Amino acid sequence: MSIVVKNVTKLYGEQKALDSVSFSIKPGEIVGFLGPNGAGKSTMMKIITGFIPSNEGETQVCDLDVSISPLKTKSKIGYLAEQNPLYYDMYVREYLGFVAGIFKLKNSKARINELIHMVGLSAEQNKKIGQLSKGYKQRVGLAQALIHDPEVLILDEPTTGLDPNQLEEIRKLIQKIGAKKTVMLSTHIMQEVEAICDRVIIINNGKIVADDKASNLNKLFSRKNVIHIEFEKAIDENTLSKLTGVQSIERLELNNYLIHSKSEVDIRNDLFQFAIAQGTTVLTLKKEELKLEDIFKQLTT
Ligand code: ADP
Ligand code: MG
Repeated sequence: MSIVVKNVTKLYGEQKALDSVSFSIKPGEIVGFLGPNGAGKSTMMKIITGFIPSNEGETQVCDLDVSISPLKTKSKIGYLAEQNPLYYDMYVREYLGFVAGIFKLKNSKARINELIHMVGLSAEQNKKIGQLSKGYKQRVGLAQALIHDPEVLILDEPTTGLDPNQLEEIRKLIQKIGAKKTVMLSTHIMQEVEAICDRVIIINNGKIVADDKASNLNKLFSRKNVIHIEFEKAIDENTLSKLTGVQSIERLELNNYLIHSKSEVDIRNDLFQFAIAQGTTVLTLKKEELKLEDIFKQLTT
């Protein structure tokens, strides 16, 4: 196993940040670690990477206990910490050289060249880190995590704060890198998990509440189908609520409604027919995306 976490509990003073957390990750998996702010994602990652100890439980990386073999396990882990801490006054190459020195790499110059190419930093390689855009800073963060060619990558919210273009590029990069490594990446964005990961572990209030294939994420949470529909004119709500398959309707502003339906029926066609029968048209019809908050509510109640 690449990562094994067994009954790990972490207290900050009185507060329990992790409550008997267990999971394991196989070599080559890309696992999304999903949870709202304060769920315990960063704490779990800091324990795996050996930055802080747990109060109880066991943590292994590449079959070695992180508290018994801290240096050996660190040599197998690449870590991009939350908010990507970097030295802004250092030049890109200088910084990567500095990190290579920490790992006592031989041939560090060749390795730095290779990484700069791999993460797409060629055009920016002679700049100071502080001068780079957020997306390029993130590439430097990924390069430092990869410099010693670790087996396991721990990425703590690697795409937070990026604009949509940068986001797309960094996601692609993580997928490319992840093809040959075990990756655990935390995020609070559900779509991110669907885009990058094989598997998803969901944490809430320091407890694992779900652990499944990422492709099951939708199935897991689409028990309720919700459609947002906007009619051009006012409609008869009573008739709408009695359409086949409709469980309940919820009026938003003006002629906008949220329609909850049984998940096995597709009511979109009936909704169009209904609009015609009502002498109006449909201006908007879309499946309402389930928000992470709703999922946590579902999972924790
Ligand atoms: P996440 O990364 O999922 O947002 P964290 O692991 O950062 O969550 O935090 C989990 C909980 O532990 C939060 O309630 C947070 O306030 C608390 N916490 C995190 N770090 C510390 C710390 N150094 N001291 C005290 N409380 C902390
Ligand atoms: Mg965090």
